[in-house]
Parts: sequence; structure tokens; C-alpha cells
Amino acid sequence: MKIHNFSSGPSILPKEVLQKASEAVVNFNNSGLSLIEISHRDPAFVEVLNAARSLTLELLDLKDKGYSVLFLQGGASMEFVRIATNLLNKKAGYINTGNWANNAQMEASFIGEVQEIASSKDRNYSYIPKSIHIPQDLDYVHITSNNTIYGTQYSEFPTVDVPLVCDMSSDLFSRVLDFSKFDLIYACAQKNAGTSGVNLVVIKNDILGKIEREIPNIMNYSKHIEKESMYNTPAVFSVYVSYLTLNWIKDKGGIAAMERRNRAKAHLMYSEIDRNSLFYGTAQQQDRSIMNAVFYLNEPRLTTLFDDWCIKNSIYGIKGHRTVGGYRASMYNALPIESVQHLVGVMQHFEESI
Ligand SMILES: *Cc1c(COP(=O)(O)O)cnc(C)c1O
Repeated sequence: MKIHNFSSGPSILPKEVLQKASEAVVNFNNSGLSLIEISHRDPAFVEVLNAARSLTLELLDLKDKGYSVLFLQGGASMEFVRIATNLLNKKAGYINTGNWANNAQMEASFIGEVQEIASSKDRNYSYIPKSIHIPQDLDYVHITSNNTIYGTQYSEFPTVDVPLVCDMSSDLFSRVLDFSKFDLIYACAQKNAGTSGVNLVVIKNDILGKIEREIPNIMNYSKHIEKESMYNTPAVFSVYVSYLTLNWIKDKGGIAAMERRNRAKAHLMYSEIDRNSLFYGTAQQQDRSIMNAVFYLNEPRLTTLFDDWCIKNSIYGIKGHRTVGGYRASMYNALPIESVQHLVGVMQHFEESI
């Protein structure tokens, strides 16, 4: 029986990726050894790590533009701290568009002074703040491109004169952007870029080395770059899953092809949310995320009924985040459009049955 996996993260991976990853666990490259029992300095693994790093730049069209790629550990949450440690001298600006953006700001505040330069909290994070006044005296501006929990997403990014730092955990590799507008892009891998255990950091080299504090090596981006993402033992298996996922994206036609598929899926999903008399969406139309569609039942008393209906119809992972309730259909790169068609059909039949 086919399960339709709308999980928000860790989330669906391409079947081919799962197949190849499982084979490597038993017998990596026909070596007779498992990927996870060889040295991370074995040339065969170093090649995987380097290929994943260079593929990242290639997919983002950042080759030869002065960027470095790292695969680190501790999740996006660790980067909240590393970013401030490496870039915050006097004051940093944060745009608060949801829980993750808020966490990023909170963690940075342990390191130095942060200023919330815009927020959409006033309307329960249902929109992306526009025409923001950006103070001149900031070390960097931090934004969150896709708000996984509230289902909002930037379509236009603020123009800033200072380094622009972006948490792209839930939409990296899902749509074409001019990535060279960003000075630091980071993402945990478990949404669009592999599985948990590793986080991807793409840094413009020339923003580093400008702060006064002493930085412990493990927190220091420059040290990780110098050691080519091998300062300490990388998360070998997770890096390999990212490597396979990036290759899958490339083979399917790159980010542009992903974006076409993702827009078609999102269009289908939102059309049904808007049409179906039992449901409503919360994100403002123009700021709706093409990755995570958040919606609610008009009548909460139907919750158990709809939940059971979904389970009976092999739909996995559409409960909303525990802090906001409702439903969330996460439609990451690896989710086929057939799964969205199936969910839409299930919602239509549910409406007819009521
Ligand atoms: C999932 C997510 C995170 C959290 O990542 P961890 O790996 O759990 O630290 C951070 N930011 C965004 C936007 C996310 O979607």
C-alpha cells in the first residue's frame, strides 16, 4: 500500500535515494565495507563530501563567486549560535516571522545585542513584513525564507547594505533565487536536502574574520573552511544522504525543475483549501508557502473524523505543528504531485461525506 508522506521534517526522500543509501550501509561502493564503518578520511568518503560541497554551489549557481560550503552538525539551531558568534560585533537585526525566526534571534541574544527590525507577530505570523526600515548600524540582517510552522514564505527579499543571512531550512533547493544576494545561507538537511544529522552552510568568505571575540574552533566558520568541513568527524551517513539527494535534484533538471513541480503542487493544494467549504487557510494569499500549506477545519468538532479519514486513506504527517494545531501539508521536492492529487481527492470526498 502506498503511503502519502506529508511530514514536515524529517520528511520524504526520493525512493532512489533511500535505495542507494541503504545499499551503502551494507556495502559501500562494492568495497565489502559499510559506509558507516570506514574512516571519514578514507578517500572514498572524502570524495563524497567534496562532491556534495561542489554540487551545492553548482545547484545554487554560486560556483567561483567566493562562497564556501560546510556540512556541520547540531541542526539549524546550532547555526543560530554560530552565526552570531562569527558575525555579531555590536548589533544584529532580526526579522521575526515565526517560531524559528524567533529562536534564531533568541539564541543570538546570548552572544550580543539583537534588534527586532520587523515582525509579523501582530497577526499571528500570517504574513511577511514588507518595506522594512533597516537601520544602518547593523552587523548583519537575519531572515527566515520559509516559515515551516505558519506556512508563509518570502517572494521578495529585503535589500540591505550589510550581510544578509538566511535560514533556508525548509525551502533551499526548492525554487530558483539569485543566491548571490545572500552572504550566508544555512539549512538543516531534513527537509529538502537529505536527512537529520547534518546542516548545510553556504558562506561568502569575505564576511568572515571581522569580529573581535575569540571563537572556539568548533564554532568558528573560518576553521571549518580551512579544514574543508573535516575539522572533526562529519556525520558520515547524513552527508551521504545529502550527496544522493543533491545528485537526484541535478538528475531531475536542477532547482528550476524542482520549482516547476513545487508550484504545480502548491497550486493544486491551495485551490482545494480555498474551494472546500470545510477548510480555510491562514497565510495571507501573496505570502503563501509553496512548501508548507497550513490549513484548519472551520468546525473543530470534525477533527477526529477527518484525522481518521486521513489515516484510512494512507495519508501520513499532515497534523499541524504542535504549537499551532490544524493541518499542514508539507510538499517538499521529493513529494510527487500524485500525493497532492490524492490528498485533494480525500478532502473532496470528506466534504461530500459530511
Ligand atoms: C526545521 C527548521 C529548523 C530547525 O532545525 P533543527 O535541525 O531542528 O535545529 C530551523 N529553521 C527552520 C526554518 C526550520 O524549518
